Amino acid sequence: MTLSLSQASFDQKLVALHSSPYVPERLANFVATIARAQRIAAEDIKIRIPKQEASAEQHAQGMPLVVLAGVAWNKRDAEKLFKQLLAATAVPAGAEQDALAKAGELLAAAVKEGTLGVQDALVASAAQDRSFFVPWAEKLPEAPDLLPFLARNTLLPFFAAVAEGALARTKSPEPWMHGLCPVCGGVPVMGVLLGKEGMRKHTCSACHHTYRVPRLQCPFCLTEKPDGTVVYTAEEDKTYQLHVCDSCKGYMKLADLHDRDGAYVPLVDDVLSLVFDYKAAALGYSRPVSSLPGA
Ligand SMILES: [Zn+2]
Ligand SMILES: [Zn+2]
Repeated sequence: MTLSLSQASFDQKLVALHSSPYVPERLANFVATIARAQRIAAEDIKIRIPKQEASAEQHAQGMPLVVLAGVAWNKRDAEKLFKQLLAATAVPAGAEQDALAKAGELLAAAVKEGTLGVQDALVASAAQDRSFFVPWAEKLPEAPDLLPFLARNTLLPFFAAVAEGALARTKSPEPWMHGLCPVCGGVPVMGVLLGKEGMRKHTCSACHHTYRVPRLQCPFCLTEKPDGTVVYTAEEDKTYQLHVCDSCKGYMKLADLHDRDGAYVPLVDDVLSLVFDYKAAALGYSRPVSSLPGA
């Protein structure tokens, strides 16, 4: 859905990103560079769709269609994209280095020295092996999530192609009642409300599949409490909503595009709605995956 967005809508979204009063210019530039590189990489990805893991019956009961750890992405293309994303951490020539630039420099040096294998990081990301990233988080206290962020975003165009192929083969039940991504079992990172009735969709952090979900269900603990769901909106910016769950203390951010024009680009919308991450954290809520390298 995201990567196939028209160029005009995509460009318009980047204009919104660059003109947002809530997003520092540095972060806007970083995210825009990543979103652009992913789009270009997505243009010529050829990938074998792994065999389907779930029978139609198992899938209807919540089992994801494929296991991303089994996907064979093109190593050279993936490494190229990883290095492009890593290069986006640098500040413009002459500017003072910040935490992101320093962390990026350390990772680039580690890749060069061979102490960090790009493929190793990608494999760990695909397998959701968090232990691989722990020592790197310790080395980068000011940007602890940078490496998993880069690895996940490198794999994203490849996994988006896998999701598309898997869904061409098997239709997924709608709305999806099982929280995590129907294609790969990844955690949702961002959501959107669309159409007149405000149909709710969530986007997977790993494959960016965007799937229809129940209006008031928490995707993490599956609690469905129409009265207990608290929704926050901001006076300054009505484009986003924060949905929190008091059962598991998780939260989701939704772009509110119902009855309103506009494109939904999860990576960019996640950054545009940064204010809600601060609000959620201040209220004691958290989410399992972030689209921001240092958050
Ligand atoms: Zn997924
Ligand atoms: Zn919950």
